[in-house]
Order: sequence, then C-alpha cells, then structure tokens
Amino acid sequence: MNILISGGGVAGLATALELGTRGHQVTLVERAARLRVTGAPIDVRGDAIGFADAMGVLPKLRELRIRMAEQGVFVHADGSVAARLPVEEMSDSGDDIEIAREDLVHTLAAALPSSADIVFGDSVDALTDDGGGVDVHFASGRAERFDLVLGADGLHSVTRRLTFGPERDYLRHLGLYVALADLPAEARADRTNPLYNYPGHLASIARYRNKAFAVFLFRSELLDYDYRDLDAQKKLLLDAFEGHTGWKIPQLLDAVRADPDFYFDSVSQIHMPTWHRGRIALVGDAAHCAALLSGRGTSLALSGAHFLAEELDAAGGNHTVAFARYEQRQRPYVEFAQASVTDGGELIVPSTQEAIDARNARLQAVAT
Ligand SMILES: Cc1cc2nc3c(=O)[nH]c(=O)nc-3n(C[C@H](O)[C@H](O)[C@H](O)COP(=O)(O)OP(=O)(O)OC[C@H]3O[C@@H](n4cnc5c(N)ncnc54)[C@H](O)[C@@H]3O)c2cc1C
Repeated sequence: MNILISGGGVAGLATALELGTRGHQVTLVERAARLRVTGAPIDVRGDAIGFADAMGVLPKLRELRIRMAEQGVFVHADGSVAARLPVEEMSDSGDDIEIAREDLVHTLAAALPSSADIVFGDSVDALTDDGGGVDVHFASGRAERFDLVLGADGLHSVTRRLTFGPERDYLRHLGLYVALADLPAEARADRTNPLYNYPGHLASIARYRNKAFAVFLFRSELLDYDYRDLDAQKKLLLDAFEGHTGWKIPQLLDAVRADPDFYFDSVSQIHMPTWHRGRIALVGDAAHCAALLSGRGTSLALSGAHFLAEELDAAGGNHTVAFARYEQRQRPYVEFAQASVTDGGELIVPSTQEAIDARNARLQAVAT
C-alpha cells in the first residue's frame, strides 16, 4: 500500500520502519526542517523492549543506554542534597532502557528501509477520504493521493484536528507545563543531576555523556498560546520563574533566552473514543498521549507502531479490520499508562513548601 505518515517523532519513525520493512511504500512528512532530537532522555520499558527487538533496533538501543535518572538528587537552594530521586518508584524493572531521545530517533531513522522516504518542512493541511483513498493537500501546495494516512504528529496533531475535530475535545490538562533548554556551560563530568523545587516549580540540570540541559516544570492552568511561536513560549516560561533567584534559577533562565531549540509544552493527556476513521488512523501521542509523568509515551509509540503494521499484514491490507484490531491490542497499554499518572506530579513538583519538606523527609527515611 501507499501510506502517508504525518510526523517524524518516535511513533512516526517506528511506524515507517514497521510498514516499510513489510513492503509498503511509505512517505513520512515532518513539519520541522530536520528530525527533532531535543528532549530529555526517555524510557523504553515493558513489552516495548520486545517490540524494539522485533524492529531490529534493540541491540543498538542497549548499546546507547544511559543511566541519567539514577544520578538524580533533590537539592536545597544552597545546592546541598535534600534527598535522592526514587528511581525504583519510577521504573518498571531493571530491564527498562533509558536512552537519549536523540539516540532513539536517530536509531529508528537509520534503520528505515529504502521504501520509506522522509519529506521535511511540510505539513498536511487538508485530507479528503472518499472511501477508495485519501487525497492529501500539503501546506507547500503539493497534492497527492494515498491508500492510508497515519497521524503520528504528536500531542497537537493536525491529522487529529482535520479528521476528528478540535484538540480541546480530547485534551486533559494535568496542570503542569514542561520546558527544556540546552545548557552547554554545565556539560561536564559531574555525574549528579540536581533537581530544585520551590512551591509549584521544579528546575533541574540533566546531564548525560557530554551534554547538559535545563529542565523546568511548573504548575499552571491551561495557557492559550501559539504552539509554533518560540518567543511566546519562552516568555511564558520566564514569567513563570520570574523573581525567583534561589539555587541556579537565573543561570538556567539565561539558557532559555539563548536556546534556539527551546522545547515547551503542556503536560496533558489525549483521550479519544476511537483512533481511526475510514482510511485515516492515529498513532502515538496524537492518539493517546499519556504525558511525561507516565514515563511511557515512547513505549506506547513503539507498541502502537508494531500492532498497527502487524494487523495490516494479518488482515491482508483490509484497513477496517486492521485498524480495529490495532486499537483493541493497544488500548490496554494506553489505559494502564494513562492511569499510572495519579498524583498529578506531586512527587516531582509539590505544590507547597510543606509538601516539599514532607517528600524529602519520606525519601530520606526510605534511603536509611
Ligand atoms: C522536540 C521534542 C522533545 C520532547 N521532549 C520530551 C521530553 O523531554 N520528555 C518526554 O517525556 N517527552 C518528550 N517529548 C514527547 C515524546 O517524544 C513523546 O511523548 C513520545 O516519544 C511519543 O512520540 P510521538 O512520535 O507520538 O510524538 P512526538 O515525539 O511529539 O513527535 C511528533 C512529531 O510530529 C511532528 N509534527 C507535529 N505536527 C506536524 C505536522 N503538522 N506535520 C508534520 N509533522 C508534524 C513534530 O515535529 C514531531 O517530530 C518530546 C517531543 C518532541 C517533539
């Protein structure tokens, strides 16, 4: 089949890999000018490790494995250690593979067969499914017809909006925002990754290999802003931390001002009654974002890609049957991951000073 995938993140690349190696002709369209590789290290866990193996990338992922979370420590404003990050509470088992987002993205892209092409700098802007195929119009003005269209374009999916309606119908905001900024000045062999809280806020430095970046989380109701306006996003972050001079906050905010690849997004989930309509289906965060607090978004992207491709094969190309079976197999993983986010980030972003102190005291007690 001739298949279009919108979005070149983990879900899009994994789906392209799975479908391409099964003999489909795949076009992957990514809105950015290149693969987007920023991001905090992520986990491949549970059954997703087996799916990565089926995709042929597991040995590479194991080779690139890092252990950043294990070096996490909560610190006081003067930098002294308050408590260790409880990695055991946050992982499934010792088999979880923590890996830099860029390494996973590059590994999947390098494994793509020649039947999968990536088109950068373009985006779907109209989709017409007439039952026999989908006519796609792109922002560049190009138009093309595909047998199937798969939306792997993340939390703010355009494919979802065009096919199922506005984001607000499916978004469940968890009351937090996340931001990342490159921090070259802190890239050194210091192995600790300090996390500093003040009520409703977290600022931290994450290091792996020769890289360092600032990670921010803050509590906020849903904000109205343009997802593609970098300056507007920087301003929201700077305003949220403005006036706080504890620990290294001023230095980290300077990193925000300087970073051209700054990343900012809401910590939200997507809940949809179904992920497919006609010849169009959604994969990964576009369908069922579980939010970073679940630590399972990447694993869900891999399982969804695998199930979708396997079911298309099993149904002999009958997309109606395949999409229904894909959804049936993927749902339990999604429900588990989304339900795992129960405390709204209370562990890493306590909302009051009392809650910060209580968390630290609890973790100190566990450590002794
Ligand atoms: C730059 C970046 C940094 C991230 N950092 C973190 C992190 O630090 N921690 C964390 O837990 N999760 C992070 N995530 C989210 C995490 O990668 C996903 O939750 C998970 O891997 C599932 O991936 P996905 O492919 O479904 O969605 P995503 O990883 O969001 O990928 C979606 C892709 O679609 C592209 N896209 C969006 N709109 C269009 C369009 N209209 N047309 C074409 N392409 C489009 C995006 O540029 C992106 O490449 C990040 C995502 C991105 C894009």
